[in-house]
Amino acid sequence: NKQVILRDYIEGFPKESDLKVVTASNTTELKVKPGSMAVLVKNLYLSCDPYMGIRMREPNPSTLALIDAFVPGKPIAGFGVSKVIDSDDPVFEKGDYVWGLVDWEEYSTIHPIGIFKIDININVPLSYYTGILGMIGLTAYGGFFEICSPKKGETVFISAASGAVGQLVGQFAKLMGCYVVGSAGSKQKVDILLNKFGFDDAFNYKEEPDLDAALKRCLPQGIDIYFENVGGKMLDAVLMNMKDNGRIAVCGMISQYHLKANERIQNLPFVIVKKIKMQGFVCFDFLNSFPKFLEFVLPCIKERKLIYVEDIVEGLENGPAALVGLFHGQNVGKQVLKVARE
Ligand code: NDP
Repeated sequence: NKQVILRDYIEGFPKESDLKVVTASNTTELKVKPGSMAVLVKNLYLSCDPYMGIRMREPNPSTLALIDAFVPGKPIAGFGVSKVIDSDDPVFEKGDYVWGLVDWEEYSTIHPIGIFKIDININVPLSYYTGILGMIGLTAYGGFFEICSPKKGETVFISAASGAVGQLVGQFAKLMGCYVVGSAGSKQKVDILLNKFGFDDAFNYKEEPDLDAALKRCLPQGIDIYFENVGGKMLDAVLMNMKDNGRIAVCGMISQYHLKANERIQNLPFVIVKKIKMQGFVCFDFLNSFPKFLEFVLPCIKERKLIYVEDIVEGLENGPAALVGLFHGQNVGKQVLKVARE
């Protein structure tokens, strides 16, 4: 059973060498013990997500980690799509497809709490349950519609806009009739924003270090809604360009997760004078909205009102590079690791 394990707690940015691909000596018997209520799954797709970098750090009461740290010497874990091979739980049968939290390994024996059965009659790629039809979709949907209270005609700015969450928020905002601008870290990503996802404007923040000027050019009338994915200098520049009574959904701050505590946001007082509503959230806050979200998103996928771009890397041995690549902008769209054939 091949696994991806954490070598030791990290300091600074995650590196490929912080992870190791090993073959576990206790080869998994492809059966579950009767009476164990366990389910044995074969993992097909694993999701690479920025929060996993935070889980590679030593647990520390002053960090903001919401989920337990990974354990050195043990497999890392995340959302995945798997096929049931054997089951002692009456809810799951051999041959079922499921999504939820699993370890990064070929086969996992799980006690299925927070594991959802996939309805294969909904004819979409299975990998979508690591993203648009899972935690990522709910993040974009809840974060945009519930936190930002968007109205037709408003201006929306999204950072890390071509990524897993950003691409969906941008398209939701277009469906709402908003004017949508995004930032991303390469020309290729900016082209995708403009020509594939239908953003009204976009800029490459790596080529335009004067973020204030870039925002003023793309959004001369100011920003009603900022969907925050990166933090740091981008947030600072955005604050100056917000309109009065603007809303900021603080989804994530990937630029800050692995920095030492020395970055300052100079423009934070704009929150007061412009009466900006700035709210953090965690996707699980919206779990009750999941059925409503699926009712909205599935027809959008079927009718191609939503385009979803995935960046699928094959082979568990390529998992460390795929995960670490998130922190260098290597992914174009949702980063997924394909572990086995369906
Ligand atoms: P992405 O698919 O967007 O991948 C990460 C992207 O972030 C990279 O491709 C890169 O894009 C950008 N990035 C990396 N480092 C930096 C940096 N230093 N400065 C600016 N941009 C950087 O990831 P997700 O869509 O999965 O996640 C987006 C954000 O949402 C993250 O902050 C994540 O932690 C957060 N999140 C929060 C959730 C919640 O419940 N609140 C749930 C899920 C995600 P580029 O090339 O454009 O720089």
